[in-house]
Amino acid sequence: MADLMDKIVSLAKRRGFVYPGSEIYGGLANSWDYGPLGVELKNNIKQEWWKRFVHGRDDIVGLDAALLMNPKVWEASGHLKNFQDPLVECKNCHERFRADDIDLKKSCPNCETIGTFTAPSQFNLMLKTFLGPAEDKANIVYFRPETAQAMFVNFKNVIQTTRAKLPFGIAQTGKAFRNEITPGNFIFRTREFEQMEIEYFVPPPKKDAEWQKHFDYWLQEMKSWLKHLGVSEKHLHYVDIPDGERAHYSKRTVDIEYDYPFGQKELYGLAYRGDFDLKNHATASGEDLTYADPDTGEKFLPHVIEPTWGVDRTVLVALLEAYDDTQKDRIVLRLKPWLAPYKVAVFPLLANKPELIKKARDIYKLLTTSYSLTPIAWDDRGNIGKRYYSQDEIGTPYCVTVDFDTLEDNTVTVRDRDTMKQERIVATDLPSYLKEKLTA
Ligand code: ATP
Repeated sequence: MADLMDKIVSLAKRRGFVYPGSEIYGGLANSWDYGPLGVELKNNIKQEWWKRFVHGRDDIVGLDAALLMNPKVWEASGHLKNFQDPLVECKNCHERFRADDIDLKKSCPNCETIGTFTAPSQFNLMLKTFLGPAEDKANIVYFRPETAQAMFVNFKNVIQTTRAKLPFGIAQTGKAFRNEITPGNFIFRTREFEQMEIEYFVPPPKKDAEWQKHFDYWLQEMKSWLKHLGVSEKHLHYVDIPDGERAHYSKRTVDIEYDYPFGQKELYGLAYRGDFDLKNHATASGEDLTYADPDTGEKFLPHVIEPTWGVDRTVLVALLEAYDDTQKDRIVLRLKPWLAPYKVAVFPLLANKPELIKKARDIYKLLTTSYSLTPIAWDDRGNIGKRYYSQDEIGTPYCVTVDFDTLEDNTVTVRDRDTMKQERIVATDLPSYLKEKLTA
């Protein structure tokens, strides 16, 4: 199974999904750059999420806040004090580890000596920088370690500028930074990553059933997103975090974990955060962050249900689920069509026949006018078999071949990635035919 990770990392590099960061300078440990296909896959995920959770409903609005925020935000949220992981160092090789990631009774995973770990110390994960030319203490700022806090900090702005009525949510996608002790496993754990988060505000519950209803609803929404993504239920685990292990303010947290080749680990999270965040920001900023019920005039701090999705882990899981090398002589990325970087590929049968190239270019152009069919790949190298191989490996659902018959009767061959069946279609019918197939 571990070998599947190697295959994914290699395919990602070879085909332009994900490259090692700063590669020509020897790289930068555990940083990754999304290439031409990776950026399409990642954008498809973020856009679909936005369509589903912001555009597709009337109770959630979006936000795109700055990465750097006033350090008082992180003081109030508790991050400066508590956002830390236990760190141990091997006294022999000086490699550092997250204490909860390894068995301290066993040998050092790096140099294999036994009994050389230091006692765990708490290491803060906030990534620091300086704003302005002077590198002094007064100018220290932190890159946000999550997108969530900006939604609390802007709560007042949002209720004043929209007609948001409880229950309602604020959604945000964007980069987050954590000075992880042990990044690794490709894009699973990095120091710079992307999140998609919703803070869903509900009236303060009078009884548990009131917040539980919203919590269960969001758990179902997360499950249905995973189904839409094409993740097999048998690879997923919904882990209720027990008392004592949850953040003190959370009455319930569910980690959605996935069976990665390197073990069962977190993919997404869902937490009931009470009014912890709004209360802390109201106290620390001195601002009134209460919500006034438009019907009763009653003022209160709403409570929050927070579903969180990691974008990079979504990309990784999409690739792991889609990778299929069980067939003879081909590797297929069985991505759901909405995820596929290219929806369609167009080939002229031969590269040295100008009349075929022209016809194929016209068809390519015709397809690009249908936004839902783009981007479209073009390939005129090698033979048709090699081109199919190449498109299967990156998950392109349909290939269209223009041949000599096309010049006579305006029909083309459409080949399906999954069934490998070929159909003859009139070229002018292609946009509607492909649109129907891709949304089926
Ligand atoms: P973990 O237990 O794996 O460190 P976490 O509980 O700290 O994760 P959260 O704070 O709940 O993670 O962050 C929300 C989501 O952001 C996670 O479910 C995950 O998808 C993503 N995420 C968190 N840390 C990283 C990271 N270092 N690299 C990539 N994605 C991350």
